[in-house]
Amino acid sequence: QAVIVAIDGPAGTGKSSTSKAVATQLGLSYLDTGAQYRAITWWMVTNGIDIDDPTAIAAVTGKPEIVSGTDPAEPTITVDGVDVAGPIRTQEVSSKVSAVSAVPEVRARITELQRAVAAGAERGIVVEGRDIGTTVLPDADLKVFLTASPEARAARRSGELKGADINATREALVKRDAADSSRKTSPLAKADDAVEVDTTELTLAQVIECVVTLVEE
Ligand code: C5P
Repeated sequence: QAVIVAIDGPAGTGKSSTSKAVATQLGLSYLDTGAQYRAITWWMVTNGIDIDDPTAIAAVTGKPEIVSGTDPAEPTITVDGVDVAGPIRTQEVSSKVSAVSAVPEVRARITELQRAVAAGAERGIVVEGRDIGTTVLPDADLKVFLTASPEARAARRSGELKGADINATREALVKRDAADSSRKTSPLAKADDAVEVDTTELTLAQVIECVVTLVEE
């Protein structure tokens, strides 16, 4: 029986590191849904689509072919066969992804991709994002909602970005979370039956252990 684990929460709570490690430990596949939204955003930017025009975005939503590799040891993401793992992490994409992912046609298309990937994972999968437990996979076997203080999240993210200004990083994260939480179609939200884990005072190893224990229960 394939096990489906949904891990949601705002940016900088340790979703990716936790999800990959849990998938590796349990021998499951892994899907980073934020990478898919970043990939379609990267394609929109690269093709000169006006990010402030939802109608223009909706009109071309079906064009790029987005493929995710689900090995937690080496997750991959391509757009029309091009490896975009690096380009999707730029500040430009980070600042535009909330607007693109708020467009209902974008969400419908990416959600369909996510469900197909999950259905094809024979042993099961850990899927991380913002609306996995509420919308994409509401029948998941386990739903986890990770939180952390804005300070802790900014500190972790600027650690990853090596030398980034912590105040600017915190502002950008808080702004992106506000946009993701306030959009009309499947906003960032905790499912009623999700287990909330506040990671502010926890090490990554402790968060991983906590989630593995929840899966095994
Ligand atoms: O997880 P990450 O921070 O890379 O996600 C980038 C963006 O993708 C989020 O800020 C959000 O706008 C969007 N996203 C989403 N739904 C998801 C995952 C990500 O709207 N399930």
